[in-house]
Amino acid sequence: MLAMNYRGPYRVRVDRDAPIPEIEHPEDAIVRVLRSCICGSDLHLYHGLVPDTRVGSTFGHEFIGEVVETGSSVHKLKVGDRVMVPFNIACGKCAFCRQELYGNCHESNAQATAVGGIFGYSHTAGGYNGGQAEFVRVPYADVGPTVIPEWMDPDDAVLLTDVVPTGYQAAEMGGILPGDTVVVFGAGPIGIMAAKSAWLFGAGRVIVIDNLDYRLEFVQKFAQCEAYNFSFMEDPVEFLKKATDSLGADVCIDAVGCEATGNTLNYIMGTKLMLQGGSTTALHWAINSVKKGGIVSIVGVYGPIDALVPIGNVVNKGITIRANQASVKRLLPRLIEHVKNGVINPKEIITHRIPLEEAAEGYHIFSSKLDSCIKTVLIPPS
Ligand code: NAD
Ligand code: ZN
Repeated sequence: MLAMNYRGPYRVRVDRDAPIPEIEHPEDAIVRVLRSCICGSDLHLYHGLVPDTRVGSTFGHEFIGEVVETGSSVHKLKVGDRVMVPFNIACGKCAFCRQELYGNCHESNAQATAVGGIFGYSHTAGGYNGGQAEFVRVPYADVGPTVIPEWMDPDDAVLLTDVVPTGYQAAEMGGILPGDTVVVFGAGPIGIMAAKSAWLFGAGRVIVIDNLDYRLEFVQKFAQCEAYNFSFMEDPVEFLKKATDSLGADVCIDAVGCEATGNTLNYIMGTKLMLQGGSTTALHWAINSVKKGGIVSIVGVYGPIDALVPIGNVVNKGITIRANQASVKRLLPRLIEHVKNGVINPKEIITHRIPLEEAAEGYHIFSSKLDSCIKTVLIPPS
């Protein structure tokens, strides 16, 4: 089958003869992929920022597909079902899944103390292959996969596997109170959905910060918010203070994560070179722009080195920090309703549809933000 194959930082190819995955456990299903996306999180892998990203692995944690085989213990899915598959791999039974913390499942990633399993997201997230391929093995198939309603556009469905729930949870974790001023750092797919969702929690004002004009123009229309380019600001923190009556924003959302550009450091864990750390600029801005007693909500993804945050300011300002991988399964029922009622139109963010065979080009375009790219969808041959 065709499958994306990671060859090292900034190097991706597509194999034609990758082995088709097989059922390995009675709770598995095999899914034929109908669409997969390239995510900002894939860029951290692509940039070599995530520990233990092994050459030869297939990325892709945002995908939908058709069930072609089920293990003997799968009862809720049948062959032929078209499903959206949350990016979190969750057992549904452990202490964390029982609290609906599906991103923190304890069974799906035996090695990790924090993150649960994630499709196509390195051996730090369980070492599973992802959906940027023609077929994918889906563990715990009765837990995460959700049958796509008849009325739903597949382009909307694929964005419900990560982008929409992550943006929504970013706003939710902000604990937004009616009338609050919410600042979102990052106008990528996640920041766009966070800005849109902030209104649903009662925000009175939503401001998005990025340095890509085409994305700022898009988010301004899509989320009906204010949008500013930080490259024209002498000091974004001062700018935001002035814009918020000198007190700061009630809630700041980090929808950027570690950036490959910026203060790249070598990171040594024990004696093993683990990771090239990215820049943490947006997180610094978020902490320094939120008002005293405010909330910083982080969905941007960081490796260990990126824990270098201005913790003194967090303490002195009495800031609450909330962060997590989105718990997709918990949020899906209400987000499906929002899509049905037209409250959120996810597919509007898709700018590129690229054949799976050309995934390398897709990565290049999305990573370099070429051709006004916001979201790239990979389409396997039918
Ligand atoms: P993206 O690369 O498309 O967007 C990131 C945006 O941030 C870009 O538009 C970039 O110009 C902007 N940016 C860079 N530095 C900035 C700064 N200092 N201030 C403001 N904006 C800045 O990525 P995306 O798909 O939107 O993902 C965003 C982040 O969310 C990534 O870190 C990704 O890993 C993370 N993510 C987290 C989860 C989760 O469950 N927690 C899920 C999906 C994605
Ligand atoms: Zn993603």
